[in-house]
Amino acid sequence: MTIPGKSKMIVVSNRLPIVLRKDGGQLRMQKGSGGLVTALSPILKNRGGLWIGWTGMTEKLPIQEIKKILDPFSRESGFRLLPVFLSEQDRDLFYYGLSNEVIWPLFHDLQTRCRFDPSYWETYLEVNRKYSRTLVRHAEKEDFVWVHDYHLIPLATELSRMGFQGKCSFFLHIPFPSPDIFVKFPWRTQLLQALLHYHFIGFQTLRDRKNFTDCVRIFFPETRIEGRSPIIRIRTQSGENLAGNLPISVDASEFIRISRTEEVARKTEEIRKSFGNKNLIFSVDRLDYTKGIPEKLKGFRFALMKYPHLRGTITLVQLLIPSRENVPAYMALKEEIDRLVGEINGEFTTGSWVPIVYRYQSMDRPELVAHYRAADIGLITPLKDGMNLVAKEYVLSQADNRGVLVLSEFAGSAAQLGESCLLVNPYSASEVAEAIVRALAMPPREKKRRLENMKRTLKRHDVFWWVRNFIRASSGLDLEDFPESGLSPLLTPRRGAPFKSFPR
Ligand code: UDP
Repeated sequence: MTIPGKSKMIVVSNRLPIVLRKDGGQLRMQKGSGGLVTALSPILKNRGGLWIGWTGMTEKLPIQEIKKILDPFSRESGFRLLPVFLSEQDRDLFYYGLSNEVIWPLFHDLQTRCRFDPSYWETYLEVNRKYSRTLVRHAEKEDFVWVHDYHLIPLATELSRMGFQGKCSFFLHIPFPSPDIFVKFPWRTQLLQALLHYHFIGFQTLRDRKNFTDCVRIFFPETRIEGRSPIIRIRTQSGENLAGNLPISVDASEFIRISRTEEVARKTEEIRKSFGNKNLIFSVDRLDYTKGIPEKLKGFRFALMKYPHLRGTITLVQLLIPSRENVPAYMALKEEIDRLVGEINGEFTTGSWVPIVYRYQSMDRPELVAHYRAADIGLITPLKDGMNLVAKEYVLSQADNRGVLVLSEFAGSAAQLGESCLLVNPYSASEVAEAIVRALAMPPREKKRRLENMKRTLKRHDVFWWVRNFIRASSGLDLEDFPESGLSPLLTPRRGAPFKSFPR
């Protein structure tokens, strides 16, 4: 049981919030900057918090070498990082295999992309045991254990097998599929049982939570669901769980602040000038087949074909963030995008205008926010997405209230922003094209009203709201209940009883 003033927070995610890599024989560390790190850092800081995850390397390194690089991070950030070590085989079968070739595509409704290799499941469980072993050495019964995402679904089961008696909570960052799709998962009953090992299971949207409870009802017909609020109770023969829908978000006030800085105002002007003050569409996507990038490019091509007045007056800036580049499916996707951009630019470019400006790179925050602010349209059309933070960042960065968000109805963020943005079916090139035309013709007052509505929602439900409510819903604790103290010493690793009698 979690106890105010005594429990410490333990976060477990596939990766640590840093990346380690060898650079010229030297081990180097790069800090993560994602929303999750930003949101959780203040809670972990000086509260004896721990973060457990993989370093991203498969090379065996002496623990002293790793400590040398992680310890200064711990001192600076006020919380400790505990690395989990994965072998090349673990990475291939657990990370690239079951996590990213089965769960990722299936849960995004893209079952034809799945590779159901029978060897993946055992390694998935084995790697979860590795995380579990690291955790049980450092966790106490009253700690608040928060497990993140689809790589670690079996962790609570493995922890209880190792004798850990505390409660664990889980948040699924990706969508949960409908029963028709979920039933295709070869280890479906085990996966559902593993989820039901968590005291609290959090989802991004009501649709995800309903899909989950529909699946639970099918596989465990005696299940009773109680309550209708964002938090419900699930009673099965094996016990009781809570489940909730809590949409993750970004640090809203930080995006608003950055978008109003002089630096961003200057960059915004530079960007607009560099495109001859033409209408700008901005898209940001990680290289991933769930993001619907080829479909979007086809929608833009359709718009240029069907509405000739757009030619020469509008530019699509597509930022593609490199990701999983050594995976064949991602390499093929990159080639398809390169080819489509080439085709569209080849067909429509004139002496004074290029329709698509394509950048395959990352952007720093001020540059990104300046592009958001400069864009008349934020075009975000994933085929399916757990949330999509880019959509929220685009809205929050609209310091001039100039932009229109065109968003896929299959993004989790559509549940919060759908009333004020323009929703499209990303599979329909004509819907995407029509939304572009409608956005360009929208009167300034309507744009402002829509943006203000969305900003209001996002300011109220920012990432700190998400963390606070997740903790409250799953443990009954408030942030203030985590004790403030210096960096607490790690528990002496427990190598003997009670965890020695691991039943495997
Ligand atoms: N982002 C980034 N590097 C960039 C541009 C954007 O890390 O060069 C960030 C962006 O600000 C957003 C995140 O990447 O916070 C993407 O999150 P989203 O939920 O949209 O998609 P995901 O990549 O998690 O599927």
